[in-house]
Amino acid sequence: MKKMYWSQSFLKTLKDNPSDAEIPSHKLIVRAGLVKKVAPGIFTYGPLALRSLRKIEAIIREEHDNAGCQELLMPMVQPLSLWEETNRSGIPELLKFKNKNDQDFCLGATHEEVITDYVRNDATSYKDLPICLYQVQTKYRDEIRPRFGLMRGREFIMKDAYSFDQNEELAKVSYQKMKKVYQNIFDRLGLEYRVVQADSGAIGGNLSEEFQVLANIGEDLLLVSDSSEFAANKEICARVYKKTDFSSTTNSKLKDFTEKKEFETPGLATIADLAEFTGIKSECLVKSLFFKDDKGKPFTLLMRGSDELNPIKLKKALDLKEEPQMLTEQEVIAFTGANPGSCGPQGLKGAVWADHYLKEFTHFVVGANKTGYHIQGLQNGVDFKITNYFDLAFAQAGDASPDGKGVLKEIRGIEVGHIFYLGTKYSKSMKAIFQDKNGKTQPFEMGCYGIGVSRTMQSAIEQSHDENGIVWPKAITPFDFHIAVLDPKHEGLINYANALTDNLNKHGFSVLVDDRNERPGFKFKDADLLGLPVRITLGQKGFESGEVEVVTRFNNEKSTCDLDSALGFCLDKYKSCK
Ligand code: ATP
Ligand code: MG
Repeated sequence: MKKMYWSQSFLKTLKDNPSDAEIPSHKLIVRAGLVKKVAPGIFTYGPLALRSLRKIEAIIREEHDNAGCQELLMPMVQPLSLWEETNRSGIPELLKFKNKNDQDFCLGATHEEVITDYVRNDATSYKDLPICLYQVQTKYRDEIRPRFGLMRGREFIMKDAYSFDQNEELAKVSYQKMKKVYQNIFDRLGLEYRVVQADSGAIGGNLSEEFQVLANIGEDLLLVSDSSEFAANKEICARVYKKTDFSSTTNSKLKDFTEKKEFETPGLATIADLAEFTGIKSECLVKSLFFKDDKGKPFTLLMRGSDELNPIKLKKALDLKEEPQMLTEQEVIAFTGANPGSCGPQGLKGAVWADHYLKEFTHFVVGANKTGYHIQGLQNGVDFKITNYFDLAFAQAGDASPDGKGVLKEIRGIEVGHIFYLGTKYSKSMKAIFQDKNGKTQPFEMGCYGIGVSRTMQSAIEQSHDENGIVWPKAITPFDFHIAVLDPKHEGLINYANALTDNLNKHGFSVLVDDRNERPGFKFKDADLLGLPVRITLGQKGFESGEVEVVTRFNNEKSTCDLDSALGFCLDKYKSCK
């Protein structure tokens, strides 16, 4: 549909913000009538939203097709047995149910299992490879806390692609090709984004990147270099080793604490308390944390008092199945013999892991494993033994960039895409194999690549709006032009509007004509709220004096032109929009 007359369409805007909306884009998608909530995290996409979604999908399809990927469509309802094959039937986001015959099913939260099943019996030779298949499909994830509208829905639209290759090297070639596809897509969508190193979760390895749209309300913290392309999700960002400068005047106080002896610290529980009590800066103090591993065995973890433990790094460093659990207060007492706050590494059983920033610490001020006491002058290798050092703390703004170029700064992002080298995790567990060049059977080397289509649409609005409404980027706007006919009963005016609409259509542009019997002010408010790139105002007065008003939404700049030259003028104005 190239044109829509408002008076004949079902498009309702709202004056008030929905009560559950916390962020601007959520308010705007509801107020502009783009979506309507059906249940928490579940929405109906109205006609305007669907037009934008279709444009996003068209760009996605074109770029995938250009790269030789093929589109298919997998079912949303999936037999749970497939998820049992990969040991994923227990993941909390899966919505499971039974059919009449008491068979178990779930709604597709993602499609690795179904796609692997699709390929496993039919791609039998290396000659069939590489394969890259994709779909645009509704997903359902039973998110604990759906919020921010389409940003974290339960039901949402995703494009997911899966690649199959003969070996790791070629799988990584496919990965890089898809990365380029994603860059093309997000460039074309007109979004400001960064590609960041990401956590590869249960799969391990480190080849995983997220496409993050930059926005203050983003749920993800990103660390980016101020002088290079380096960017990583804070969840996994490496921290380069830097020696703590004990000679600096602020840190030299530690020198007074090198002699080994206990000292009384009644009621001191935190590093901040201890720093105040001793006068030693918290970056020169050491905190002792106590965890248990997969088998329930307790271990000690040491890090600088000023650093914050990154549980994802800890899990990876120790190659654990789950993020390790901290010992409870009772367990700490049983393990160390002292109340939490007075504990340290001396005399404990089990491994002592440490953050790499402790490498050059010679004298430790830590809990004495005696309630109400700390101990100073403890030495690694003498009084206790650090088993190994790892990078375990969150990187922070101000740290050196891990690529050696510049300093990290913190920004926020919305994850709109995620690409992943999977290896053989799914193909192995589902026995999806092919014959290689030597006639040997091998599991496929896989990759998976997702874009949150509905989240992307809202992210564009989050990034591009003002206090009056949406400012649609041209690439994904539901309509290109907004013609506000102020006096729709005026025959000459409406005829002119129709002719202009047809001409814009002929040039390939779509038009929303506001021909409702409403006051001009009301129509302008709605036009700002809907935020189509160019608004053309046609009023009786201007018409009679031969004038048309044109507003470009991105800068709200008003200009006028002659009735006769309006088409060319409006096309030029459209060109100037983002
Ligand atoms: P998140 O960390 O935000 O929960 P995820 O890492 O679980 O996302 P993926 O499995 O990587 O998500 O899914 C691919 C893409 O699908 C994401 O990059 C995101 O754009 C989108 N997506 C994931 N969960 C949701 C959701 N609940 N609502 C809307 N879009 C989502
Ligand atoms: Mg992800």
